Amino acid sequence: MRINSKLLGALLALSFGHSSMAMAALNIFACEPEYGALAKELAPGAKIYTATTAMQDPHQVQARPSLIAKMRQADLVACAGADLEIGWLPMLQMKSANAAVREGSDGLFFGADQVEPLDKLASVDRSMGDVHAKGNPHLQFDPERMLRVARAFSDRLKQLDPEAAADYEAAHADFAARWQAATTRWQAQAEPLKGKKVIAYHTTFRYLFNWLGISQEADLEPKPGLPPTSGHLASLVERAKAGDILAIVVASYQDERGARWLSDKTGVPVLILPASVGANDQSQDLFGLYDNVLAQLLGGK
Ligand SMILES: [Zn+2]
Repeated sequence: MRINSKLLGALLALSFGHSSMAMAALNIFACEPEYGALAKELAPGAKIYTATTAMQDPHQVQARPSLIAKMRQADLVACAGADLEIGWLPMLQMKSANAAVREGSDGLFFGADQVEPLDKLASVDRSMGDVHAKGNPHLQFDPERMLRVARAFSDRLKQLDPEAAADYEAAHADFAARWQAATTRWQAQAEPLKGKKVIAYHTTFRYLFNWLGISQEADLEPKPGLPPTSGHLASLVERAKAGDILAIVVASYQDERGARWLSDKTGVPVLILPASVGANDQSQDLFGLYDNVLAQLLGGK
């Protein structure tokens, strides 16, 4: 019997079409690990690729060919925004030529666009260093802002993949309930940290300190975006020695040598906090990340 090849082709197309529809998994490209982790919570069926690790500086990333290839396949790109990725994301967008995730399209999601970022600057000049003029993009340690980002992200998922809307809604409800319960617990745990003072590297933990009532008295960076210099570090010795500094805080991706030097001179301990999910064994999801940061600040682990 001769099989009508046109019919066979049509049948094959139909069955392939069906199987790919049943597996309609969104391809999500996350710029930073916290957005990969959020995607995991809110889009459990999605294929998620996280472009950077918590050991990498998200301000400075190489637009490697592997990242371009991943972006080419993406249905949704999720990033911090507020120009955090200005040095690499536009290049990836241009080279991947994926219309779904270009500027202004629904496939491009920025956390900072969903909330009011802290420290927006009205005017900027070069003498200020590499400042975050559009506000601080390191939102990952603000539980309330992250909850609002989660709501908006879930809405975006539904918009891009309406057939699975009920699944996204259920995942969001589950996440939001656990997040709100955890936030209450974290706030109670962190009560002793209120009014504490730290010296830190960059404004990586700006939202964490703002949330917990911790004051960053000085920055290891002489100017935003510039690495610590010996002159600047020396100028911090007296302040660090005053006796009221809890710790010198460095994020997992930052060079800790300046902090170690200052610690040796002053006896103030260095804390290396995870910048995001995946920086240490305890920080394997957003909940573990917060647990670990609080435990370290409280002097436990
Ligand atoms: Zn920054």
